[in-house]
Amino acid sequence: MSVTAVKTAYDRVFNFSAGPCTLPVEVLEEIRDDLMNYKGKGMSVMEMSHRSKEFMDILDETLETFRRVFNVPENYKTFFMQGGATLQNTAHAMNLLGEGVGDYVVTGYWGKKTSQQAPLVGECKVIYDGKPHNYSEVPDLTKLDYSPNASYVHWVSNETIHGVEFKSDPDLPVTSVCDMSSNIMSRPVDVSKYAMIYAGAQKNMGPAGATLVILREDLLARTPEPFHPMLSYKAISDNGSMFNTPPCFAIYVCGLVYKWVKKEGGLTAIQKRNEAKAKVLYDAIDASAGFYAGHAKADCRSNMNVTFQLPTEELLSTFVKEADAVKLNGLKGHRSLGGIRASIYNAFPLEGCQVMAEFMADFAKRNG
Ligand code: PMP
Repeated sequence: MSVTAVKTAYDRVFNFSAGPCTLPVEVLEEIRDDLMNYKGKGMSVMEMSHRSKEFMDILDETLETFRRVFNVPENYKTFFMQGGATLQNTAHAMNLLGEGVGDYVVTGYWGKKTSQQAPLVGECKVIYDGKPHNYSEVPDLTKLDYSPNASYVHWVSNETIHGVEFKSDPDLPVTSVCDMSSNIMSRPVDVSKYAMIYAGAQKNMGPAGATLVILREDLLARTPEPFHPMLSYKAISDNGSMFNTPPCFAIYVCGLVYKWVKKEGGLTAIQKRNEAKAKVLYDAIDASAGFYAGHAKADCRSNMNVTFQLPTEELLSTFVKEADAVKLNGLKGHRSLGGIRASIYNAFPLEGCQVMAEFMADFAKRNG
C-alpha cells in the first residue's frame, strides 16, 4: 500500500460515520475549555438547572443563531424535541394529518420507514416509490400526482443510506413536510417553500439527543386537542422547547456549531466547500474505469453521503480494513445497501476526501 496515514490534530481519524459523526475541532476544543467552569458559572452546562438564566440564555441564543444562519422567516417557529428524527417520522402525522390523506414520497430507506410508520396514525398514500431502480434517483416533486385531499406530502431531502439528494427547494402544490436530517445546513434553503422541516442534530448540527423542528406558525392550529403534550407541536412550541427538561448539553453544542457555521462564512460558503469535497470523491469513482460503481445517478448524487460498490465482498472487506489503517474510518455501508458509504458532513475536512481519493486510486490499481 503506497498511501500512508497523515498527521492530524490530536491524532484524530477521518471520521466518515453517517451520524453521530465528526464535529468541528474548534467546537470540541471550546467544549473542553468550558467543561469544568462554563463562563465563570462554576459548573459545566451538563450540571446546570435547565430553568437557570444561564441555560435559558444558551437556548435562546442557540435558536436565534440558527434562525439567522438558516434565514428562517418570522412566521416560522423553531423548537427542539427529543426522540430523534424517528419520532418525527410519526409525530408530523399525529399533528398535521387531520381528516385528509398523508402523501409519501419514498426515495430511500428513511422515506420508506416513515411511510410505514405514518399509517398507524391515519390514511396515508405512497405517491412515489423508487424501489424499481433501488433508490438510485429522485423524482421531480413538482410533477407528482398529489391526493386531492392531501393534508401534506412528506419527503426526505437527502437519503442518508442510499446517498441520493434533492438539490433545490421545490415549490409544491401541497403542504411540504421535509425530513432534512442528513443535509440540513449543508446549503442555503428557502424555508418559505416548506411548511415543516425537521432534523436530528447528529449530522450537521451537534450530538444526538436534540431534534430541531421548523414549523410554519399556522400549522400549530392543526394539532388535535386534547393531545399528549410531549408529542404536541403546539405544547412544545408554546413552552419554548421547555415542556420538560430538554437535552441541555446537546442544545448547547448545537449552539456552538451554529456559531461555527456563521464564522466559516455561512451556508453559501459551506455549500461551496461541501460541493468541492463531494467532487473529489465522485471524481475518484468516475476515474476508476468501473472498479468502483457509484449508486446514485449523476444528477442526484448526495454531497453528504457518497455511496458506491466494489467488485466483490472480499475486496470490500479488504478495502474497509486497509482504509482504517490509514485513518479513513467508518466507511462500511449500511447493511441494507452494502458497499461503501463515505459520509462527509459540514465538519468533515477536504483533506480527508483527498486522502480517501488517493487511497481509492491506489487500491484500484493494486486490485483491479
Ligand atoms: N431520517 C434520516 C434522513 C436519517 O438519516 C435518520 C438517521 N440516520 C433518521 C431519520 C433517524 O434519526 P434518529 O436516529 O435520530 O431517530
